Amino acid sequence: MFTIKGKTTDWEVVIGLETHIEVLSNSKIFSGASADYNPTVAPNTQACMIDVAMPGMLPVLNKYCVEQAIKFGLGINAEISRHSKFARKQYFYPDLPQGYQISQPAEEPPVVGRGWVEIMGDDGNPKKIFIERAHMEQDAAKNKHDMHPTKSFVDYNRCGVMLLEIVTFLDTKNPENNSYITSPDEAERYLREIREIARALGVSKANMEEGSMRADVNVSVRPVGSKTFGTRTETKNMVSFKFIKNAIEYEARRQIEILENGGTVTQDTMRYHQDDGTTSVERSKEDALDYRYFPDPDLLELEISDEDIERIRKTMPELPAATRARYINEYGLSEYDANRLTETTDISHWYDDAVDGKTSRAKPVANWMISELFAHPENFDITNEIKENTDPDAPRIITPENIAELVDMISANEINGKQAKEIFIKMLDGERGTIHEIADKYGMKQITDTGAIESAVDEVIKNNPSQVEQYKSGKVGLLGFFVGNVMKATHGQANPAMVSDLLKQKLA
Ligand code: ADP
Ligand code: MG
Repeated sequence: MFTIKGKTTDWEVVIGLETHIEVLSNSKIFSGASADYNPTVAPNTQACMIDVAMPGMLPVLNKYCVEQAIKFGLGINAEISRHSKFARKQYFYPDLPQGYQISQPAEEPPVVGRGWVEIMGDDGNPKKIFIERAHMEQDAAKNKHDMHPTKSFVDYNRCGVMLLEIVTFLDTKNPENNSYITSPDEAERYLREIREIARALGVSKANMEEGSMRADVNVSVRPVGSKTFGTRTETKNMVSFKFIKNAIEYEARRQIEILENGGTVTQDTMRYHQDDGTTSVERSKEDALDYRYFPDPDLLELEISDEDIERIRKTMPELPAATRARYINEYGLSEYDANRLTETTDISHWYDDAVDGKTSRAKPVANWMISELFAHPENFDITNEIKENTDPDAPRIITPENIAELVDMISANEINGKQAKEIFIKMLDGERGTIHEIADKYGMKQITDTGAIESAVDEVIKNNPSQVEQYKSGKVGLLGFFVGNVMKATHGQANPAMVSDLLKQKLA
């Protein structure tokens, strides 16, 4: 368990995340303007009358956006509400021309109800993180304060793009239920899992660097063993895993210091400072905004049928948790390997392409990917889009087919592990061609001819009489010495397993 040592007691950290993901759709949630919001699009070219709140314009709910929400809800094992509503959340800001954000009311069921995702807990075991809800809402526009010395500008392209806000659950009524995030690392793993589910489903790019995923981070602390939760603070609009982890740790330590000095934590909204990793109060609870939520009279209630849900369920691809289970149960991979290979769907697709359903390849391909390819990102196009780099000086892109060929040649005894490693290094150095072609070019062939190996073994035994004597008197660790010498004598081409067997026979 992640704890922080205090003066008199150890402290536990409790974390709640409100994650916003920008939902992929052709048009916006309530208007026909393009939702392909990206920084290369000229400002205010993708905002229509509804987005800028011209009087008399009525919003129309985008059916595809609702389907995206349902898809995501099914992806997080959640209940899908058959009825839900839209409400106006009122505040004034230049990036919100309506004067309110259309969202779903906090006190009524949103489209996606209670669900869960599974992450690896800090103890290395699977851990369920419960999710309270996920609701649909509009994104705001973007204020630009850095374009003119005395003026600010607003780009309305993003205004009205659909967001899904996903809120983790804290079971205050049942303190034994510990399915919530309790460390900075778990927060990161949770966010990565949400990201991968959203990407696998095509619901969002969920990319923090591009702003299509952001999180509000709620943190409280309590002495280890305490059955009640402490007062939390909320740090808003966090856009990097690193900052989120820093902010959690900083906030937790700040709260512990207050409590240990006899003070009380107040339920404030905090601002995180990227430069020095600190937080400061942005607004206190007394200044909390009253959003005066009320049902949006321009929108009908949302009705979802069982048929809608079943139709969408049938289109769902395999999600990361199922992929992990498949790797462990069908391919016999370790929990660790399965986790590494499902960090992103691009990685698991790459792995699946290389294994291509052949169980014998499963473990060796996993090993090559995790211990070799991950260390050479310049040669590893995980999207597997670049098959061939035509510039001869550019790094060679290693494909799933290459690794499949490599492990097949090893298991067919065509090359040994050492030669495979040499071929791999040659590919890293830019060598082109198939694995067979490279092996041929450098005369790498494994010697599996017993006669040839036997004569090399005899030679080594003859030349090392004192080591032979020591081996026979019990120093069996010398086997490695003999194997090494036979391999040297055969220029690394002998089959090491055959060498070792023959040596054992002859030295016995
Ligand atoms: P709000 O409406 O003010 O945003 P919510 O009740 O929706 O508050 O909770 C927001 C998030 O804060 C949720 O993820 C919830 O689990 C989390 N949270 C609530 N209480 C605590 C607490 N004491 N410590 C840490 N997180 C908390
Ligand atoms: Mg909130």
